[in-house]
Amino acid sequence: MSTMAKFNMSRYHVDIKTEDLTNCCRIAISGVQRAVQYYVNTRSIKDQIEDLICLLIVYRFLHNTVVVLYGYGPFRTVAGLYRQFAGNITRRMLKLPILKEKVGQQVAGTRAMIENEFINKPKGVSYSQIPNKGLSDTVLNHKLDILVDEKSANWKGGQVSGAVYFGDDKVAKLQADTYYKFCFANQLHPDAFPGVRQMEAEVVSMVLNLFNAPESGCGTTTSGGTESLLLACLGAREKAYAEKGITEPEIIAPVSIHAAVFKASQYFKIKLRLVDLTDDFTVNIAQVKRLINRNTCLIMGSAPNFPYGTIDNIQALSDLAVSHNIPLHVDCCLGSFVVAYYSRAFGEELPCFDFRCLGVTSISCDTHKYGFTPKGSSVILYRNNDYRRYQYFISTEWTGGLYGSPTLAGSRPGALTAGTWATMLSIGNDGYTKSCRAMVMAARELKRAVAEEIPALDVIGDPLVTVVAFKSEKLNVHSLNDRMTRRGWHLCALQKPAAIHLCVTRLSVTVIKELIEDLKECVNELLEADEELDSSTAQIYGVANSLTVGSIADDLISAFLDILYQDKKTAQ
Ligand SMILES: *Cc1c(COP(=O)(O)O)cnc(C)c1O
Repeated sequence: MSTMAKFNMSRYHVDIKTEDLTNCCRIAISGVQRAVQYYVNTRSIKDQIEDLICLLIVYRFLHNTVVVLYGYGPFRTVAGLYRQFAGNITRRMLKLPILKEKVGQQVAGTRAMIENEFINKPKGVSYSQIPNKGLSDTVLNHKLDILVDEKSANWKGGQVSGAVYFGDDKVAKLQADTYYKFCFANQLHPDAFPGVRQMEAEVVSMVLNLFNAPESGCGTTTSGGTESLLLACLGAREKAYAEKGITEPEIIAPVSIHAAVFKASQYFKIKLRLVDLTDDFTVNIAQVKRLINRNTCLIMGSAPNFPYGTIDNIQALSDLAVSHNIPLHVDCCLGSFVVAYYSRAFGEELPCFDFRCLGVTSISCDTHKYGFTPKGSSVILYRNNDYRRYQYFISTEWTGGLYGSPTLAGSRPGALTAGTWATMLSIGNDGYTKSCRAMVMAARELKRAVAEEIPALDVIGDPLVTVVAFKSEKLNVHSLNDRMTRRGWHLCALQKPAAIHLCVTRLSVTVIKELIEDLKECVNELLEADEELDSSTAQIYGVANSLTVGSIADDLISAFLDILYQDKKTAQ
């Protein structure tokens, strides 16, 4: 018989022959057979099922542990477990009778503060019930005028980050007129409103074209970026289940991905594997690669992301997506028409972020941001219908008839689709190119001024388009934000790390110099006043970020949401 292997070390000499091996195998197999026999004879069916379930659980747990350990490394894994554990313990402790009361008092205090800020009804325009006799148009208009002015932030003056993206009277008039013409249109009934069907299809086409979709490209309009992202995640989950049998789907996305993806993860029970950012505040590609596993149903990146305005390395994500055969979604909700018109405005390309990267299978684009269309309008695009069809809802069983709906909503406001269509035609390529240029130039001016003229602040990453975020080692940026708020600015507070950003809109272009001046002054004030003033954002973020009381931030946010629907001031 031939020799299979030979180990020849100084003291040992082992010769293994094929028959030795076969014998070994035979003994092993019969051993296993006997063990199984014994197991089957002695364990009842019920016990056996229990054992099987137990094994499956152990296997699943191990799978998760392996993914986490491999993806994040031992140090991060332990730190994460510690945070989770400590968070759980404190949450429990805060429920103890002695502490519960104290926490309750503090939450109530903050609640009262928020109430005072929000619920301040102007006289004569408050109705908690429908009046018996309808009001006349004159009376009603008067009341609406009071409400529209009511303590609103100075968005017209361009002092608000994001939120309102255009605010031009001509476009407002066009949108109002379009709304009037189509105010009864419902996209759920394309047969009754063929014009709206056509406009929706054309809006999708126009946006597909902006993002360099192939011939097969398709999509739908939605009610906003959140719905577009929800649908992208839902579709990816359904596709993974149908085509790969994935029952425990996972999404891999950078920590800077929009909150709507966290929402999708929670609504649709998809595990969200968050990826750290590198020093330039874009997704860590190596970590994405390590986190990919057999349950991954979608990889995500942003162009740009909301917090920092930085653009993830979409080409690298695309390469990973192609080599692992996993869909890739690019969130261009914010970038929308600014990233799409950038090359026309500046004569140079941004790093590839659209369908020209072959791994990109879907893109979300908010027309209601830099497309300047009416609020409640976004588009979800797909490379082809093999992706889009998984977001559809279809029911052939319903007693109400055969039912199909392409997006989350049932009835949909045709007037918004018409408004979107009309706005895009009215502004045209020239208008969008000009706006893109003006806004990006304003953001560059802010970036330059912060970097060169305000040494206490550090620009985060290298923002290429309209969002500029900054942090500080020398002062509390949330206190800085509060000072800016007192001067009428509404910047956006960020956390982990503490930072603030401005999202430049058409309205902020003209006031960027004033913003920079105010920033300088506020920074100087803060540096001079060495003790901090009472500052509300700073306080709230202080609470949310401290491990010991972090869990009451949930209570505060939930109180805030309750207050939004509160009609009367609570009796105190
Ligand atoms: C605004 C935004 C969204 C979606 O937000 P909506 O408020 O639902 O329109 C998604 N991603 C990014 C990066 C955004 O800035």
